[in-house]
Amino acid sequence: MASETGPCPQCRKNGRDESGNNLVTHPKYNYRKCFACNYYEAINAPLEGKYIDIFDRKLTKATCEKYGIQVVSYTGSFNTKHGLEAVTDERCAIFNTYEKGQVIRQKVRSLDNKQYMKLLGTNTKDKSLWGKHTCSPTKKLPITITEGEFDAAAVFQATGMPAVSIPNGAGNVGETLTRELSWLQEWKHVVLMFDNDEAGAEAVDKALSVLPVGQVRIAKLPYKDANEMLKEGKEAELKTCLWNAETYKPECIVTISDIIDEVLKKPEYGYSLPWDFLNEGTYGLQPNNIYVWLGAPQVGKTEAMKEVIFHLLEVEKVKVGMFCLEQGSANSVQRMVATKVNKRLHLPSNEWWNEDEIRAHAMELEGRLHLYQNSSSSGITLDSLLINIRYMYYCFGIKVIVIDNLTALCNTPIIDGKYVRDWVFTDYVADKLHALSRELPLSIILVAHTSKDRISKQIHIPTSKKNKESYLMIGEVQMDEMINRPGMDWNSGRMPGLEHIDGGDRIGRLADYVIGLARDTVSKNDVIRRTLKVKFLKTRLASEHCGKEYKLMYDYETGRYS
Ligand SMILES: [Zn+2]
Repeated sequence: MASETGPCPQCRKNGRDESGNNLVTHPKYNYRKCFACNYYEAINAPLEGKYIDIFDRKLTKATCEKYGIQVVSYTGSFNTKHGLEAVTDERCAIFNTYEKGQVIRQKVRSLDNKQYMKLLGTNTKDKSLWGKHTCSPTKKLPITITEGEFDAAAVFQATGMPAVSIPNGAGNVGETLTRELSWLQEWKHVVLMFDNDEAGAEAVDKALSVLPVGQVRIAKLPYKDANEMLKEGKEAELKTCLWNAETYKPECIVTISDIIDEVLKKPEYGYSLPWDFLNEGTYGLQPNNIYVWLGAPQVGKTEAMKEVIFHLLEVEKVKVGMFCLEQGSANSVQRMVATKVNKRLHLPSNEWWNEDEIRAHAMELEGRLHLYQNSSSSGITLDSLLINIRYMYYCFGIKVIVIDNLTALCNTPIIDGKYVRDWVFTDYVADKLHALSRELPLSIILVAHTSKDRISKQIHIPTSKKNKESYLMIGEVQMDEMINRPGMDWNSGRMPGLEHIDGGDRIGRLADYVIGLARDTVSKNDVIRRTLKVKFLKTRLASEHCGKEYKLMYDYETGRYS
């Protein structure tokens, strides 16, 4: 080990050693010596200080004597992060640790400059709780553990209650408490009174991972730490903090009495939906639930969704917030009014156009239907969506949110200012929406497209002359399997599955309900072409509804499903 050099405190006191390298450390012999003036400093030798009132900490001489806190005017060197530094007549506190009445460790810390700190004594590595010599365990009293030595002394002086501190700040809390477990269990319980800051909160977490759960209480301080409260004359408040310290109980574990009110709450139907089969499968639209409405483009999702929203507005008189990210707000309202007057207003071929009636019906929705109007050309960001949903909930009392659609929402895949892969972003959106659905009592209806890449894959049925024989031998079931295997075109009326959500299946896994929609849009049969198949792909409450399929018929005249 190379000899370290630094400034000599003695030379510096006399205005010499400008280059700061007179003092040479001899680690092998545990001392430092100045080659110029012969100043000598034993590296680990304990210091002798005095017991006095420490006014700037508001600690009395009696408290200091009990805890072994001395004050010394120290001339010597400290190892800092900038290397060896010399101090002259630095006012330092000495925190003594005892074993069998002997000092085995001293923590020397400047009262004015925190970076001047060092450990002295025969056992500088000792990690036991500091201040243990001041108290003996009893099942009648709690023991308080603070982060700093002054805080432990402050707790005792202010409350008369036993208190100790972790020896090296928040860092080693786990190791120290593990070693002291049996000693701590001899007390009534343990009160953790750590600093009211981030490091303190982290230390609490670490302590909780070590200490027996039922035995720990956490004191919440209104000031930075216990010594701060003593300095501010808040002895009584400190005492209250100690006695009111709450028993720590992991949030994820509850007792029956914690949740009995919820247990006694009979499940209720949510808002009704336009078709009976939807109500049977979902028990109505429930708060804190996500409903994914999945179908290929052009299948009629928006039209069918319009029936749902119309029903919620007209029958249930619910306030609905709509984010129509592909069609404009005005178009959405036109479609809503169209439902009322049974006309397809959004088509130029529609001849009926009674402005007064349209206005009257549109204005009826005032205050009930709130729409998001996109003002930027780049589309809505997820952050903006979440802000607007919260705003709608808190300011307008919105109960149902409709987002049409997921693909448009994921057009700009940016997280924290960085572009990410599409599927990463869709997963992220799914997580955020799921968290929101648990945070606010909203029913969230999310329209999702089927994935495009699977549409492009074409079915192959061997029909060449060479294969004719084998082709003819294919049974009906087998043929059906071939036709319906993944990859078949959506416009033939193929029903999507959970795995077909554009952007990935995470939203399907997080959603409470997934309702698939399919329609054969190319059939020559008019009835088949008008038939929208609706299937429960995922149901939350009763699994027997899952997999059930229903049919809705579209009326070209009125533009309505029934
Ligand atoms: Zn010297």
